[in-house]
Amino acid sequence: MKFTLSTITKCSGRLGVLGGLDRLPNLSLATPAIIFHTKGGSIPHISKEAMQHVCNEPSFLHLSISNTLHMQDAVQASSMTIAEFIAQTNCAALLFPRDPSEIPIPGVPEKELLPVYTRNGRRNISLEQYMTLVESFRPDAYVPLYDGDTDMHSSKKREQKSLDRTEKFVEQCLEWHRGSDTLRSCRIIGPVVGGYNEKLRENSIEFLRKSDDLFAGYLIDGLHMNGPSVARLDGTALLPIVTNVCKQLPEEKVRFCFGSYDPILVLEMVAAGVDIFDTSYVYLKAAQEHRALVFSYDVTSTEQHTTELDTTDARWAEDFGPLLAGCQCYTCQKHSRAYVHHLYNTREMLGPILLMMHNLHHYIEYFKTIREHVRNDTLPELKKHLAGQKTLPPYEPPKEDKVQTPAAQKETSELTEEEKQNKKQRA
Ligand SMILES: [Zn+2]
Repeated sequence: MKFTLSTITKCSGRLGVLGGLDRLPNLSLATPAIIFHTKGGSIPHISKEAMQHVCNEPSFLHLSISNTLHMQDAVQASSMTIAEFIAQTNCAALLFPRDPSEIPIPGVPEKELLPVYTRNGRRNISLEQYMTLVESFRPDAYVPLYDGDTDMHSSKKREQKSLDRTEKFVEQCLEWHRGSDTLRSCRIIGPVVGGYNEKLRENSIEFLRKSDDLFAGYLIDGLHMNGPSVARLDGTALLPIVTNVCKQLPEEKVRFCFGSYDPILVLEMVAAGVDIFDTSYVYLKAAQEHRALVFSYDVTSTEQHTTELDTTDARWAEDFGPLLAGCQCYTCQKHSRAYVHHLYNTREMLGPILLMMHNLHHYIEYFKTIREHVRNDTLPELKKHLAGQKTLPPYEPPKEDKVQTPAAQKETSELTEEEKQNKKQRA
């Protein structure tokens, strides 16, 4: 995997191309870019056929062990690589421990192990289990095992622990990698941790740069604990950290930063020097909040825009226009707001499929526009255009989901207990 940096601008970040994979020498990704967030190896709600209507070109996939761990035995028995197993041989498969759309499952941390949040609950995995999994999957690139479970509320002690554990894990993974014939064509991505502590971030980068020749790029993590709340981060604390990390990382290496960030924060992170994001934001909006992304990225438009469209709102019941006027996606070309609203009301599986198709299309087009603005060094103009748009109130689950049965009430009180435990862990 090779990153070619082409332009560095004054106030809009940088342009580059990620490519050079041994297995797929013709595959390339113009950055700033998104890679596709997957669950169990596929884009949630989108079949391979539906995906052809969204993006017909092979791309890069974000795979997480939290939702592929259960596939390990089958992949191993098949002797296939993970890309072959999920029938995505023309896409690059990048493997990471965490799914950016999922919140942690509380539990007691264990010293030599990393918790993984699987669909069957929390599982602690050892370095040996992790590297055995990487050897079975043979992804195109992967991150060594690391502890990036910090956010802006983490204590200094927790941040230090995340760095210490990461250094230990990474050292052992690199040693394993060097001695592994199976992993010869897999590239490694270095995980930068240290929470919101500048000094620890510096230490983390200093440690990783000792093995710089082994890393195809760097992942900036430890900024949040994933899940939908990331969309509400405003960047005040996050941006100075990301900016400084990017300044210290080698220019010629690609920088990944995952999470369901708000589109405006994405722009600021691009300006700070981040190259690659993921599509968990799009998924959380479509599948959990039933919202279509309709923010405008055309800076010449003087209309009043709203950033999202709530498809559960009864006001669309007789609106036969598309989700977004002028949108060229499959959903907007074929279906109306009224139909998508009806699909939500009847809980049809097609609802999230059509919403995902629109949201993915909108986000892909958004990133094309971002690259244009980086090229012209006009990213601040795009940011101003987005910031002037109307936003919907934060998503609230519908009332019927809130009606509590005695069992649900019990769960809620357990959750509060778990939350307390979670807080303890952070300390
Ligand atoms: Zn559309």
